[in-house]
Amino acid sequence: MLAAEIIAIGSELLTPERTDTNSLWLTARLNEIGIEVLLKTIVGDSGERLQESVGDALRRSDIVITTGGLGPTEDDITRQFTANAVGRELVYHEHLEAHLRERFRAWGREMPEINRRQAYVIDGAQILPNPNGSAVGMLYEEGRKMLAVLPGPPRENQPMFLEHVLPKLTKRAGEVFVRRRVLKVSGKGESAVDEIAAPIYTAYPEVQTSILFNKSEVEIHIAAKADDPDKAQAIADELADRLAAALGKAVFSTYGESMEEVVGKRLLELGETVSVAESCTGGLIGRRFTEVPGSSSYFMEGAITYSNAAKMRTLGVSAEILETYGAVSAECAEAMARGMREYARTDHAVAVTGIAGPDGGSDDKPVGTVFIGYAGRDVVRSIKLVLPGDRYLVRWRSSQAALDYLRRQLGR
Ligand code: AMP
Ligand code: MG
Repeated sequence: MLAAEIIAIGSELLTPERTDTNSLWLTARLNEIGIEVLLKTIVGDSGERLQESVGDALRRSDIVITTGGLGPTEDDITRQFTANAVGRELVYHEHLEAHLRERFRAWGREMPEINRRQAYVIDGAQILPNPNGSAVGMLYEEGRKMLAVLPGPPRENQPMFLEHVLPKLTKRAGEVFVRRRVLKVSGKGESAVDEIAAPIYTAYPEVQTSILFNKSEVEIHIAAKADDPDKAQAIADELADRLAAALGKAVFSTYGESMEEVVGKRLLELGETVSVAESCTGGLIGRRFTEVPGSSSYFMEGAITYSNAAKMRTLGVSAEILETYGAVSAECAEAMARGMREYARTDHAVAVTGIAGPDGGSDDKPVGTVFIGYAGRDVVRSIKLVLPGDRYLVRWRSSQAALDYLRRQLGR
């Protein structure tokens, strides 16, 4: 398979002031045609470092793409030092200068002399026209190696890449089709997932499988390549199905959907409704439910009952429960869910009460202690979790755990 490297050029890209987004966009385009990016580099405006980086990259990789540093000013060093890296001279093109002068004239200005630099191109390189700026790009090929030198601004390099570089790369890569699947797993850590998944996906060495941890869930990303789109899809589906079967109920999403989408879809299928009573999540669960278009069909109501008084007044939690077990308890979570379900007259209700921190923990109820309550037609039940993380993460993970608990009650 072809390997590509990307070099983003510009000192500002090394600071918090500006982020290199070009390489991300380029990587997505390359992956789509089955070309892998195994390394990217950010180089400041240093000619020596740039020349070295481009030289090294061309030794390692078939395809090297640089962005930035093609402007007319002193710090725009890319032309000279990419030429050095491939051992070629820069050659002057009169028609490029004429074109630049014309561009300026059309704007009612004289071309500053420093812009003449932009009429120099690596000897032997193809000139890539730039309808959106003054800097042309360059495409230099030697044997198997290809070096594309593109301007920095996305609105200039993206059309240039799509029009002049991508078609060549597509031809080089052959007809390769990539099809993806994303599985999401709850209630299991990254290594526990990998223990089950690795024996399966390692049997598919041509499929790129990655396991990523994401706030409150583990994601399995599958990218299958083949010379035919249906074949690629079939491989991706087969691996996804085998992994989903092995991981069982912990897999909540098989096409990359979010937890709230999955739960919403299930409620729609059942034609049933839900309400939510939230304490430590402060409305986060309601927000997540209602972020899904069409959620008004199943999400009826939410209450943020933060204080004991609110839990008693709105949800009918008894003073006895609060005194005997406390607001953070299985009894309270269940009473909240039962009260919410009756109040909102929904088929299901979930409730969350817990300690998000950083204060308020104790020995038997440390920060992160969370109870999730559920009330349905014939059952009221709860679970206790001790979630790791800071206040933000405990709240997020509580919302995820509550949605997941509901999902499991709904038989998904
Ligand atoms: P340059 O071609 O180096 O003069 O860059 C011109 C402008 O392009 C910069 O000021 C940035 O706004 C943008 N730019 C350059 N490199 C990148 C990059 N890697 N990612 C996103 N924007 C970039
Ligand atoms: Mg620059």
